[in-house]
Amino acid sequence: MKIKDLDVKRLEIKFEEMSAEEVIQWGWDTFKGRISLANSFGAEDMVLTNMVAKINPRIKIFTLDTGRLPQESYKVWEQLEEKYKIHIEAYFPEAKSVEGMVKKDGPNLFYKSVNLRRLCCKVRKIEPLQRALSGILCWICGLRKEQAATRTGIKKIEIDKIHNGIVKLNPLANWTEKQVWDYIKKNKIPYNKLHDRNYPSIGCAPCTRPIKPGEDIRAGRWWWERPEQKECGLHICKTDR
Ligand code: SF4
Repeated sequence: MKIKDLDVKRLEIKFEEMSAEEVIQWGWDTFKGRISLANSFGAEDMVLTNMVAKINPRIKIFTLDTGRLPQESYKVWEQLEEKYKIHIEAYFPEAKSVEGMVKKDGPNLFYKSVNLRRLCCKVRKIEPLQRALSGILCWICGLRKEQAATRTGIKKIEIDKIHNGIVKLNPLANWTEKQVWDYIKKNKIPYNKLHDRNYPSIGCAPCTRPIKPGEDIRAGRWWWERPEQKECGLHICKTDR
């Protein structure tokens, strides 16, 4: 299947009636070996890992190991591999780029300015993601509309303009947080223990903190920045368009 032959507008409408599993199955049937799931060890990724393992364990699962992940993420990474008998492929930042960045701007540069925070995300996440997606025609992500002001416009299928125009599937786009947790509990899926300590959204350790009651789900990510700045560049969301 060539991406240019897909009628994305028609699929957007069709996918609204389809379950998350059906969307993933469509991705496998359409792209066969050239589809991957991105896993950053948040609750949504636990749901998708369970679905992928059931639908077709040959779908590659990868993670971006930024070198600054919390220990709880490494723990659940091991648990997933053990439970599902899968291998989660890790993509690391280029050592020379990290060394140069830290030498010039320090180990905690992300707190100094939005530009330096974006530089760190570029080196530790965006460049490794480009390698992870090389040769892939479709990637699966755990984005949900209700996660953030920047994500209300996402669709279950999108053309990913920042990654060579490949297909991005967001099978959980319409799911609520309750649906995610009901699924995790019902299927006894391991999950990141930071969620038990009021971290609804999990990223790198120095850039993630727990939220207070009533705060936005992503309030604990880059909490020193304004909400509309809070994307790391992996996804084009509403305010970036
Ligand atoms: Fe760097 Fe923080 Fe971005 Fe992780 S989330 S890559 S530590 S700026």
